Amino acid sequence: MPILVMKFGGTSVATLDRIKRAAKRVGREVANGYDVIVIVSAMSGKTNELVGWVEETSHLYDAREYDAVVSSGEQVTAGLMALTLQEMDVPARSWQGWQVPLKTTSAHASARIEEIPTENINAKFGEGMKVAVVAGFQGISEEGRITTLGRGGSDTTAVAFAAAFGAERCDIYTDVDGVYTTDPRICDKARKMDKISFEEMLELASLGAKVLQTRSVELAMRFKVKLRVLSSFDEYDPEAGTLVCDEEDIMEKNAVAGVAYSKDEAKITLVSVADRPGVSAAIFGPLADAGVNVDMIVQNISEEGRTDMTFSCPTNQVARAEEAMNAAKERGEINFHGLVKDTDVCKISIVGIGMRSHAGVAAKMFKALHDENINIKVITTSEIKVSVLIDRKYMELAVQALHDAFGLEKAA
Ligand code: ASP
Ligand code: MG
Repeated sequence: MPILVMKFGGTSVATLDRIKRAAKRVGREVANGYDVIVIVSAMSGKTNELVGWVEETSHLYDAREYDAVVSSGEQVTAGLMALTLQEMDVPARSWQGWQVPLKTTSAHASARIEEIPTENINAKFGEGMKVAVVAGFQGISEEGRITTLGRGGSDTTAVAFAAAFGAERCDIYTDVDGVYTTDPRICDKARKMDKISFEEMLELASLGAKVLQTRSVELAMRFKVKLRVLSSFDEYDPEAGTLVCDEEDIMEKNAVAGVAYSKDEAKITLVSVADRPGVSAAIFGPLADAGVNVDMIVQNISEEGRTDMTFSCPTNQVARAEEAMNAAKERGEINFHGLVKDTDVCKISIVGIGMRSHAGVAAKMFKALHDENINIKVITTSEIKVSVLIDRKYMELAVQALHDAFGLEKAA
């Protein structure tokens, strides 16, 4: 039997009624001739509640117990989904991570999947089970303890199962009907895309589009898993949603596929740093050690042996960054005259594999921002993306202006 993986996010299993609705979709695919692996999230809001309980109980909590608690939301929905399917006369069984067993690293709260043996579940399919309902987000470490894969990790569970079982496709059911050119909440011209390439989806996910966990896209790209994002609330339609696939499978390409934004960015400038070999290592080493996720970096040209060094990081890491820099200065490892913080910035990015072959994409972006009188503070580029840091108050305007400038409301 061909295998299909169907993943239901928190809003799709938020109530018993919604679980029933989701189960009906599963039943339909079984009737279509598939053996189905269903991956479930916890009911929406559940994981946040569990995390809250852990933090309230223990400020510096033991991550092994955090995982024991927060993995429980998926245990409930997996059992309920299996029961619902059984009520519909669909032979189904639930599986916790450890029962599969889905083996992970021991990095509690952000474990990585190492192996998914297929024997146990395949043996049950061989005995007539039609649906394996697997608790998403969780696995088991080498030490035999429950682990979790980081927030949003059920997407990654789903893709990993699709890869391990050679599934025909991995359908990700969520509360939006697909992947949009930008966030429809801030740009009413945002358009749902029929297809998007793995590379573009990976950039959009890591730049702040919240539809899929970034790691799930990485895995899908590596193992060429056909991923489809679709709504569990829409009527059944085999063509629904957005297909995330190889770029060769996409005929028409806009130069730019989408506009992403990330709100909580901050910019820090070390003023007048002694410019000598090793200075970047002396700055960014301690920042990394302090757990600061540095994103953009700009070094100015130096004058008389001194230069300004600017970098960006999430707003909530500014204090940590400042502390790390002052400590390095005190230890005599770096020398700067001042540290200037700007916590009112945001990052806007355009993403598209078409950029590789279209000239002038960045210039067009800068002109569109200039036309709105928006000042650009930092720029970075890669092969398929251009990101700028601007004042946060212009965020929505910038997204809308870029969406218009690149004509994203129309498919190519
Ligand atoms: N329930 C987990 C979370 O909220 C995992 C997931 O839903 O993907 O992060
Ligand atoms: Mg999610």
